[in-house]
Amino acid sequence: MQTINLDELKLKLDQIEIRASEDCKTNLNLKNAHQIKAKYLGNKSEISEFKVYMKDLKPEDKPALGKLINEAQSRIETIFNSRNDELKQEEIAAKLEAEKIDISLPNGRRTLGKIHPLNDVTKDVVGIFQRLGFKLVDGPELENTYYNFTALNTGEDHPARDEQDTFYTSLSPEILLRSHTSSIQIRAMEKLKPPFRIIGHGRVYRNEEVNARKMPFFHQLEIMLIDENINFGHMKWFLNEFLKEFFGKSVNTRLRPDYFPFTEPSAELDAECVFCEGKGCNTCGGRGWLELMGCGMVDPNVLEMAKIDSKKYSGFAAGLGLERFTMLKHKISDIRTLFNGDQRLYKS
Ligand SMILES: [Zn+2]
Repeated sequence: MQTINLDELKLKLDQIEIRASEDCKTNLNLKNAHQIKAKYLGNKSEISEFKVYMKDLKPEDKPALGKLINEAQSRIETIFNSRNDELKQEEIAAKLEAEKIDISLPNGRRTLGKIHPLNDVTKDVVGIFQRLGFKLVDGPELENTYYNFTALNTGEDHPARDEQDTFYTSLSPEILLRSHTSSIQIRAMEKLKPPFRIIGHGRVYRNEEVNARKMPFFHQLEIMLIDENINFGHMKWFLNEFLKEFFGKSVNTRLRPDYFPFTEPSAELDAECVFCEGKGCNTCGGRGWLELMGCGMVDPNVLEMAKIDSKKYSGFAAGLGLERFTMLKHKISDIRTLFNGDQRLYKS
């Protein structure tokens, strides 16, 4: 008969428990948890094999060994479960940390922005005229009737003054949202001594229904040159120079008689369609010509209103729609596209 007593077995069990505890503390991870559990608590674990000693023990010691085995297994299980739970919690915490979103950080999508085409074209047009010696001037969007109409030779009974066309404010019957940027010119003319060359641009407002060609607000750019002996030829030269640089090639132009209260004579400047060379295409509506801007010689009345001697000085003025030039340059057929926030406009 083998000699083994309970104390020796208890010592062995304690050693296994110490190893199990060490293993759980230092080696256990979520990948080997299954093996470590099997090693100390499974059917083939060292402890489960303690049954073999039962037959060598005195009968009265057998229940005590059973109790010792159960207690040791229970403690090892507690240590294992506690460490295993800790590991699971750590894993969840790490996952959450990795997925944590800091809303103050820029998002991962790094799409590069671009200047709005309208601003881009405005910058181009301004730049071209500045290189031709024109100075940029500015004026308010909230105007009074004097600068918007009277000083521009637009009489009290002129239809443009009608509320059908112009947005008046409730501040006073004299205060309105400017209907053109020509008001900028008048303000500048009052301050400047001829000769001068000026441009001004900005948003203007008209009571228009929204459609593919019209909006109740749009952007204009005004051009004015005042000097001695200025005639239509000078105007045509400057405008042609501008178009050449804007479209990157020489363009044929023509002037058609038109009427504006503040210029006399007045004309509409057309350019041979730069897209089809005059053959006719969608952009020019098959006409072969593009209507580009209104222009003319500044009416002597307008010069006199601004206290400029109309016998000594003359000049030309022209006004263009910046949306029109933007749509031509970017081949946009519907003006609303420029204002509906379509992100494709801002991508290269
Ligand atoms: Zn064309």
